[in-house]
Amino acid sequence: MKPFAYTRAESVAGAITALGSPGAQLLAGGTTMYDLMKLRIETPETLVDIQGLKALNYVDHSRPDMLVLGAGARMSDVADNAFVKKNFPAISESLWRAASQQLRNMATLGGNLLQRTRCSYFRGGEPFPCNKREPGSGCAALEGLDRGHALFGGSTSCIATYPGDLAISLLAFDAVIEVAGPKGRRTVPLAQLHVEPGDTPQIEHVLSDDEIIVEIRVPRTPSGRGSTYLKIRDRESYAFALVSAATGLTLARDGSVEDCRIALGGVGTRPIRATAAERSLIGKKVTAATARAAGEIAFAGAKPGHHNAFRIELGIRAVADALQTAKTRAS
Ligand SMILES: Cc1cc2nc3c(=O)[nH]c(=O)nc-3n(C[C@H](O)[C@H](O)[C@H](O)COP(=O)(O)OP(=O)(O)OC[C@H]3O[C@@H](n4cnc5c(N)ncnc54)[C@H](O)[C@@H]3O)c2cc1C
Ligand code: SF4
Repeated sequence: MKPFAYTRAESVAGAITALGSPGAQLLAGGTTMYDLMKLRIETPETLVDIQGLKALNYVDHSRPDMLVLGAGARMSDVADNAFVKKNFPAISESLWRAASQQLRNMATLGGNLLQRTRCSYFRGGEPFPCNKREPGSGCAALEGLDRGHALFGGSTSCIATYPGDLAISLLAFDAVIEVAGPKGRRTVPLAQLHVEPGDTPQIEHVLSDDEIIVEIRVPRTPSGRGSTYLKIRDRESYAFALVSAATGLTLARDGSVEDCRIALGGVGTRPIRATAAERSLIGKKVTAATARAAGEIAFAGAKPGHHNAFRIELGIRAVADALQTAKTRAS
């Protein structure tokens, strides 16, 4: 690990000031940052530690229109929050199904949103060319083992999957993040936070180096109660998604769909909202056939590589199954 300086921020404003020094980077729970420093992928001059900031650690459900989550809230606290479990089970489940209990006890929501890809060539270092790690060096995954790589949003420079779970459930519910920086505060729809790799895969999101995610706001909707997060992975715990689906439904009295939310994880270079699949269900009842058809629409644009085509059928089934669970909860 490259030597670095360490400073503990006493306030959000203090953290922003500290981030202004060259090579400074944020540290929250450290569960991704320390790994990447040991691998010499991240080499900060200074770590600005915000994990002690109580001002970022809260779950506020006092507003009738909005669930508000502090970016410094721990994953386990939000996953286990009674209001979140009841009104947004998909958000609770996306947190519970991520990482391990020990990691969730340390890791924060902000850090989870900005975690980096698990592409093994990216993390593998020197022997492997990687445009994300070293721009212009090439991409070992394009002709390598791409079993876990993206079906959507890849480019000729990078096909790495966005690995997080929380962003998928937040995307399904039109969440917005509030960001603080030297010029003040701004809001960014979660749908616009992550960017596709194009020919600059080292750029993964729209925030600048001296901006901090301070808050996540999720509009309240009946579809939140009728929601679920289904994650399919190689083993039932402590593994990233081969594919995941966040779904939410609001049903009319006759059982037909009034509102439908579908977002896909584990398959895109960034979180994906399956809007055409959502539209396909409006006014219809959720049956085995319509749920499967929605899954097929969601995966219609998938572009498999050498070893990952099996995840298309897996994804179709995940969407269909998640819609059935959402239907039960929404009924
Ligand atoms: C073995 C293992 C398995 C895992 N499995 C999963 C999984 O299945 N699903 C899943 O979703 N995740 C998984 N993770 C990832 C884990 O959830 C993340 O490491 C964690 O959420 C990161 O949060 P943190 O607070 O520790 O962030 P840190 O490691 O402190 O920071 C991560 C990044 O976010 C930046 N950052 C942190 N907070 C902010 C903020 N408020 N504003 C702006 N930037 C910020 C940091 O500068 C850094 O770049 C796994 C991790 C490990 C080690
Ligand atoms: S897929 Fe992206 S992260 Fe993985 S080796 Fe290629 S450029 Fe690097």
